[in-house]
Amino acid sequence: MKSIGLADFQTMWTTGHTRYLEALERVGRSGWLVLGSEVAQFEEDLAKHWGIPHAVGVANGLDALEIAFRCEGMKPGDRVITTPLSAFATTLALLRVGAVPVFVDVDASGLLDLELAENAMQLDPKPRFIVPVHLFGHAMSVDALETFAKRHQLTVIEDCAQAIGAKSGSRPVGAASRVCATSFYPTKNLGAFGDAGALLTSETSIRDQARRLRDYGQSDKYVHDEVGMNSRLDELHAAMLRSVQLPALQAQTERRAQIAHRYLGAIKNAAVTMPPVPFQSVSVWHLFPLLVNEREAFRAHLKEHGVLTGLHYPKLIPDQVAMKSTEFHVVGHLTRAQHFAVAEVSIPLHPFMSDDDVTRVIDAVNSFGTNA
Ligand SMILES: *Cc1c(COP(=O)(O)O)cnc(C)c1O
Repeated sequence: MKSIGLADFQTMWTTGHTRYLEALERVGRSGWLVLGSEVAQFEEDLAKHWGIPHAVGVANGLDALEIAFRCEGMKPGDRVITTPLSAFATTLALLRVGAVPVFVDVDASGLLDLELAENAMQLDPKPRFIVPVHLFGHAMSVDALETFAKRHQLTVIEDCAQAIGAKSGSRPVGAASRVCATSFYPTKNLGAFGDAGALLTSETSIRDQARRLRDYGQSDKYVHDEVGMNSRLDELHAAMLRSVQLPALQAQTERRAQIAHRYLGAIKNAAVTMPPVPFQSVSVWHLFPLLVNEREAFRAHLKEHGVLTGLHYPKLIPDQVAMKSTEFHVVGHLTRAQHFAVAEVSIPLHPFMSDDDVTRVIDAVNSFGTNA
């Protein structure tokens, strides 16, 4: 029997096959390959879908974060509160602008703990920014982020790479920021056939600056008023995203939620803990994390039953070797984050899973430790 993986790009291709080929044909025939009408139309559709006025397509999520930071005036030496439990890209984008990460422990759900973040404000000089991550597809409280930022005069820039479409109450992730960033890396909920990303912003001035920064800092052809980068989005990615993946996102997100709710209701094994969903989070279930003390035995058991797993993330960002040559701060102890690092296991959850696949995963999890 075929193993159940964390994603299924082949089914993604066959499901959208005809429409992908139409998108390819449209771009090929247009003769325009980079930053054209497909990108512009995708940006408009994405902004509308998200409920934030403007989107700017870029080459990947890392660049989207860096450009967002630069648009908000982040400077070398600026201290930035962020999470130790994320894709390395969150911190890497900070390092690329010369900022100094200030790591704060996570809450029981694995997301940046805003109560502990209070302690980061004792630093002198104080942090000027906060970069939270809506991890696993869960939404941190947008209201709480806003309140925290206002009280401490911090600029918020949310990393929404894992949480496209997630809401906190009725507010979309990204709504606590003037500009937020996301990724269309293939594994993400809105995945391209390669690398791509975007910024979302409520401000036309930020939109315009982000458009310049992604294209060598050009304000007009051959006019370079600022030091930009090459982070352009290809027409081909935009065409496929806008014609196939984006229109399917709502239904796929509902399917993810359905599967997550089956897991939440049916997984019962004393060796396995399901971290709580954050208060008021309408999650998009990018991942389904479990906490298991005997992680390697658990993963081997699942693999034997044809269920593949992932780890998010086995090594905290401040513990990475690359961080040795950088300046950063750790506030207090990263006890909960450390627990995720040693005990988290992600089980398959993607929209192309059948009901039988879901049952197989549940049975494999529940039979761990029972000699089955
Ligand atoms: C994937 C991801 C990124 C980086 O996106 P890329 O497109 O791979 O550069 C940043 N932050 C988080 C939380 C991610 O999951």
